[in-house]
Amino acid sequence: MNNGLYNVTTTCPVCSKDIQVTKVKSKACKVVGSDSDFCTYYETVNPVFYDIWVCGYCGYAAQRDKFPDISYKNSKIIRVQVTPRWNPRDLSGERDIDTALETFKLALYELNLLENAKSSDFARICLRIAWLYRMNDRIKDNKDKENEFLNFALQHYIHAYENERFPIGKFDEITCTYLIGELYRRTGNPEESLKWFSRIISSPEGRNNARILELTREQIQLIREQQLNNEQLSSIG
Ligand SMILES: [Zn+2]
Repeated sequence: MNNGLYNVTTTCPVCSKDIQVTKVKSKACKVVGSDSDFCTYYETVNPVFYDIWVCGYCGYAAQRDKFPDISYKNSKIIRVQVTPRWNPRDLSGERDIDTALETFKLALYELNLLENAKSSDFARICLRIAWLYRMNDRIKDNKDKENEFLNFALQHYIHAYENERFPIGKFDEITCTYLIGELYRRTGNPEESLKWFSRIISSPEGRNNARILELTREQIQLIREQQLNNEQLSSIG
């Protein structure tokens, strides 16, 4: 196993068996770049690949920080609807993009079965699935898939923004406002995107957040340039 990774033993809250899960040493995560929707690139180990813990015995899968907190009712749903169809397998240890995608899709599938699942959890998983498609050049229609999941993430973030308390995941209100604007931009809706970006420009919290303010200005500039290009193209046509 990569020496940036290590296994720990934990107890599955659904089937009560002891399982191995893989964690990433923080010093192994060297950032080499990031995209405007916070997709981060690493020199060696990408911690996102290890975000989902899976129990190899019963098939329960969830984001690692949510893994222990499953209600009795929901653990029964997993035992009845997932375990009988699950082929026991071990998903601990080193993961490539394809395995990471598989674990996120499993977690998303299970989240859909659970009661009272939060929009912010759907949003977080869908955004990471979109990132994994972006990073994965082995999938042919990955741009379409990426857009599909960016769009799911967008709808869930809007729902979370309107219905959940901040912080949503690790996002405060301004960061979440920015991300919704950016997801609108990336999924081809510049008008809606500008509405969300303008909330940041016009709010004191936005103006006090230098990083988000800078990102917002860059993305507004991108939209303006794109609009100008489109106008020039249509005047030629
Ligand atoms: Zn289990």
